Amino acid sequence: MSRTTDPPVVGETCLSPGQLEVLTRHIKTTGDRSSIPVRTPITDDEIGSVPACTAEDVASAVDRARTAQTAWAATPVDERAAIVERLGDRVLKRRDQLLDIVQLETGKARHHALEEVLDVPLTCSYYATNGPELCADEPRSGAVPLAADATVTYEPVGVVGVISPWNYPLTLALTDAIPALLAGNAVVCKPDERTPFVALALAALFEEAGLPDGLFQIVTGEGSTVGPALIDRVDYVAFTGGTETGRLVAEGAGRNLIGCSLELGGKNPMVVLDDADLETAARGAVKGAFTNAGQLCLAPERIYVDERRYDAFLDAFVGATRNLRLGLEFDYGPDVGSLIDGDHLERVREHVEGAVDDGASLLTGGRARPDVGPFCYEPTILSDVAPDSRVVCEETFGPVVSVVPVADVDEAIERANETEYGLNGSVWTTDRERGRAVAREIDCGTVCVNDPYTVGWAAVDAPMGGFGDSGMGRRHGPEGIRRFLESRTVATSRIGPFDAPPGVSPGLFARFMLGLTTVQRRLERWFR
Ligand code: NAD
Repeated sequence: MSRTTDPPVVGETCLSPGQLEVLTRHIKTTGDRSSIPVRTPITDDEIGSVPACTAEDVASAVDRARTAQTAWAATPVDERAAIVERLGDRVLKRRDQLLDIVQLETGKARHHALEEVLDVPLTCSYYATNGPELCADEPRSGAVPLAADATVTYEPVGVVGVISPWNYPLTLALTDAIPALLAGNAVVCKPDERTPFVALALAALFEEAGLPDGLFQIVTGEGSTVGPALIDRVDYVAFTGGTETGRLVAEGAGRNLIGCSLELGGKNPMVVLDDADLETAARGAVKGAFTNAGQLCLAPERIYVDERRYDAFLDAFVGATRNLRLGLEFDYGPDVGSLIDGDHLERVREHVEGAVDDGASLLTGGRARPDVGPFCYEPTILSDVAPDSRVVCEETFGPVVSVVPVADVDEAIERANETEYGLNGSVWTTDRERGRAVAREIDCGTVCVNDPYTVGWAAVDAPMGGFGDSGMGRRHGPEGIRRFLESRTVATSRIGPFDAPPGVSPGLFARFMLGLTTVQRRLERWFR
């Protein structure tokens, strides 16, 4: 049994040589490689480095995974489930170390890092409980009652490539890996260049949970090198990241005729109806828009408020936002942490300044805060935004939200759907039935009523994914594991070939088949 890292000393923004050694031993290269420095957004200092893996390294990782997968697929599914459940336990047990590493790599507030830690055991328990049944053979109706039957069997696809982003490096490295492994696959994970150490800590935890060697491997390196090399070798790719990269991944998967799921960006709407409880809606807007400094694919970036409640909503929302405390601490003090790096800070700044140049009003925020941290930016609320401003049309992925008054629910729905994206939306009302009805009109893969995103994401039994430019395929729920399984239909005839028996003329057989089809349809209608 190996140990994970010792906890980084709280407040110390580096990994010790011993911790780095423990983490990086999970990266295997086939030769000397150049290294990629990893920096912490807390100080912009280098905290370590990882090898820039090559296509050759990816090939050998996939070969090792393929070898290990054969025995794993033959392991009873209940044993696989027990290991997945143990991983959830290990994550909870090692939560302090994981929280420290997540904060160190991303600069997010500790309570936002905790959402990642809590998510993993929930996903593990869901699939450990439900996965075995979802992988089991299923009897289905045969071609002709009594004369034939059909059974569907599910086989693992083989080796799954998981390509994950930096914003939720713990959750998003695992949320696809867990069902993929439970289904009997091996996983080769490529974390973002900026956040490899969380994924490496997970590799150590898998080892502690008893996962056989080779089944969860990490390849570090540049996305443009490692990503395509992985897609060219695996049997399925589960990608989470930006829409433009997602298109490249889909092209590669299409060329290789392998399956892929794409969890991409969003420009998520929040709709506040005339009967909403404004204190609740304002609290939800703060949580939704500023969790992880807005670097959350599900975060609302556009809020449409019934014009009769607009001023009162803004008062509550702006007031609550001004009370948020920006900070970079390894404890639960600050409300909001840092952006990931300088390039991202620049993008956020450009969106806000562009909106203001186009005539928007800045209601609060709108400034970088180098006094707090090199990439900190204030939670920002805009109103009167021009419809063609970048902040309206493009994903900002920062602590920036625009608020727009609308005449009624119909206009709110129309404006909410004015985007190519369709990841997550929310509806705010005291009438939950009405909320569910409006939710059905919003073109997103998840729509939450009276919560910005958690109630949808944490419903692990329900599928999660995007419409349009927000992606394809679904994670979570039965859909989240079935994508990693190849179905095979085994159909059996009890009467030999479905053809005219010897001695029966084709004409007579045709009349018999027409009669049989008519009876079968009537019976099906009757039993419906
Ligand atoms: P990105 O697309 O640049 O990077 C994501 C991953 O893809 C990284 O690991 C990167 O190294 C890799 N990559 C880069 N080029 C590649 C290539 N050519 N082939 C294969 N892989 C490649 O994403 P980002 O901008 O860093 O992440 C933020 C984006 O991710 C936002 O748009 C956000 O909305 C989205 N996101 C979506 C979800 C979701 O569940 N829908 C969750 C989190 C983030």
